[in-house]
Amino acid sequence: MKNPVTDGVVAYIGLGSNLANPVEQIQAARTAITQIAGVQELAFSSLYHSAPMGPQDQPDYVNAVMAIKTGLPPIALLRCLQRIENAQGRVRKSERWGARTLDLDVLIYGDQIIELPDLIVPHTGLAERAFVLYPLYEIAPQLLVPGKGNIASLLDQCPMNELKRLG
Ligand code: ADP
Ligand code: MG
Repeated sequence: MKNPVTDGVVAYIGLGSNLANPVEQIQAARTAITQIAGVQELAFSSLYHSAPMGPQDQPDYVNAVMAIKTGLPPIALLRCLQRIENAQGRVRKSERWGARTLDLDVLIYGDQIIELPDLIVPHTGLAERAFVLYPLYEIAPQLLVPGKGNIASLLDQCPMNELKRLG
């Protein structure tokens, strides 16, 4: 197995893209994440299509969620993910929720609740976002979201709306 991590934490990463061939962006990001030293892939959800949040004059998103085991501390993991975003041509703009080639978010890191200036975990909005909850439930139906409750009850309160599972 590539990158077996013997002593690590289970974390969940949210992937999103709405520019420059989103499906390829997500696949390339998955490959890059599995190549981080100290990260092992445990599961990867289906791809989903979602309508954009915020500004509507941008393409729909492709989203997925990945489960990993990692020996990296949370901030180190975030920095690795940001390097991958940058390597895939992400341009950071001031516009909130604007279009991007790649967005990688640390959704959950073990049972930790983290409130640092650069890192809030569980990720803000996780409990209300269909494009996070549905793929997360697909790969971790028993998950307990730290501070928020079990994934099945969060899902019950979150309509699927325009989210579509691909394939
Ligand atoms: P968003 O994902 O909300 O659209 P960005 O990807 O542009 O926004 O991230 C903005 C900032 O969010 C980053 O600089 C990062 O430090 C911060 N951030 C806070 N918590 C997290 C998290 N759990 N995962 C990823 N980024 C986070
Ligand atoms: Mg982000």
